[in-house]
Amino acid sequence: MRILLTNDDGIHAPGMAVLEEIAAQLSDDLWVVAPLEEQSGAGHSLTLSQPIRVQQFGPRRFGVRGTPTDSVMMALGKLVDGRRPDLVLSGVNRGANLAEDVTYSGTVSAAMEGTLAGVPSIALSQATIERPVGAEAFAPARAFGVAVIRQLLATGWGTGGHKGVLMNVNFPPHDVAQIKGVRVTEQGFRDLGATVIEERIDVRGFPYYWFGLGREIREPGHETDIKAMREGYVSVTPLHLDLTHRESMAALTAGFEGFTR
Ligand code: MN
Repeated sequence: MRILLTNDDGIHAPGMAVLEEIAAQLSDDLWVVAPLEEQSGAGHSLTLSQPIRVQQFGPRRFGVRGTPTDSVMMALGKLVDGRRPDLVLSGVNRGANLAEDVTYSGTVSAAMEGTLAGVPSIALSQATIERPVGAEAFAPARAFGVAVIRQLLATGWGTGGHKGVLMNVNFPPHDVAQIKGVRVTEQGFRDLGATVIEERIDVRGFPYYWFGLGREIREPGHETDIKAMREGYVSVTPLHLDLTHRESMAALTAGFEGFTR
């Protein structure tokens, strides 16, 4: 099995080493193509107005000066020799990718890009509590990663008629011994009104700003990814790239019936 490894924290991030450790237990045909610099929050952005530069670190190891999407595109279109990968693994992200995070996440977007190219793709993220995040924070990903990926592949997802479906896996921040198992979840929602914009003053007296990600978590009513994290489960959320809201279509169609400008 040929596996492409990528992430959004950068090729030198500790989570990439964790992902390589996990993937090495699944295959010896590993290719690493990942951004040279951190791209967290880059979403599914594609670099169109600047050239893409590539730095090679080994026979199957490339850093891309660009986004996670650029990296996957370069890997599939240029850098991976001979045969396309059978699987894309993106992560292990430093920090969870839950709820609406998936729309900002470079980690999830790299898996989206793999999916768009027809390669089964899994995003992997490690929820964390402490800052700064050290290598020990990835213990749950290390403990559960291989088994979860194997189980996902064993379900037949990725080989059958699951086109456009990627997997979003989050590991809870608990001690490994406290983790209760795996839960298949739906994407949750947070209270976005609580987004913090913090103003600071630089050394020359000018203001600058940081977006704070400490958003309030709305009480989750369903079996969401957020709830699974809280309750100490590994969360597996199937996401699909068809964003159409089919339930709205009938009312909209009726509303536009006979429409003329
Ligand atoms: Mn990240």
